[in-house]
Amino acid sequence: MQPAALQTVELPPATPPQGMSLSALPTGSMTSRAAFAYRGGRFGDEREFAMTAVLVRHPRGDLLFDTGFGRHLEQHLALQPALMRATANFSKGTPAADQLAAHGFDTGRLAGVVLTHAHWDHVSGLDSLPGVPVWVNAAERDFIAGGGDMTSVARSLDRLEFKLYRFTDRPYLGFAQSLDVWGDGSVVLVPAAGHTPGSMIAFITLPSGARYALLGDLVWQAEGIDLPAERPWISRALADVDASAVRENIARVAAIHRRFPQIRMLPAHDARAMGSLPVFPTAAQ
Ligand SMILES: [Zn+2]
Repeated sequence: MQPAALQTVELPPATPPQGMSLSALPTGSMTSRAAFAYRGGRFGDEREFAMTAVLVRHPRGDLLFDTGFGRHLEQHLALQPALMRATANFSKGTPAADQLAAHGFDTGRLAGVVLTHAHWDHVSGLDSLPGVPVWVNAAERDFIAGGGDMTSVARSLDRLEFKLYRFTDRPYLGFAQSLDVWGDGSVVLVPAAGHTPGSMIAFITLPSGARYALLGDLVWQAEGIDLPAERPWISRALADVDASAVRENIARVAAIHRRFPQIRMLPAHDARAMGSLPVFPTAAQ
């Protein structure tokens, strides 16, 4: 479906149950520059990149979307390309697992950690969540297994229990495929390949009617959707496996943003967007 066809698409129905909620778990940050984040961004425009996990509680199972930084950030950082280490400053916060435990949340009861994609800064905290299934699609599992630098941290975490999910051929907001995780429209995953082969976007709808799109790294800052604008060439070359697929998915999401501005777009690293979410244990409902 082309983005233009969205004009005739209605907001997908959802019946999120009472007890469902969404919370942010900020785990650290990185400073970089708008010039590296989106085409047209200025070099002098310093940006904080959020490293934030998102907890979506649901009576049928609580899911953590990505982990952000974990307890072994230094070791994980050492596995990254020198150029990346040289061009960014990292600051370490409290790992998601520790934030959950501090408030009496038994991480063993998480139904899964759902990865928007398997880059190091999204999986670093998995080492503190032993036994929690890691939800990936086949494309991302193969990307991890493929041996590339970009997934060295995911491979270094042994004993990960992958839970493979599959998309169905049911379209969702202009995406050809989707997976309605709990069957009530409250958590819907769509494939958004390009940044990595199995990159995924999660659409969340809460009982209040509030809607969110966890965009992962489709774009790094909100301007990527608002303008819209892809990453500049250096960042595309370093970070994306298929820049033209990223471009197509940005166009798709930008069309959703225009047609349904009530869906809050959450690029994983946009500190303004992620910083607007309630921090665990507070939650949006
Ligand atoms: Zn990434």
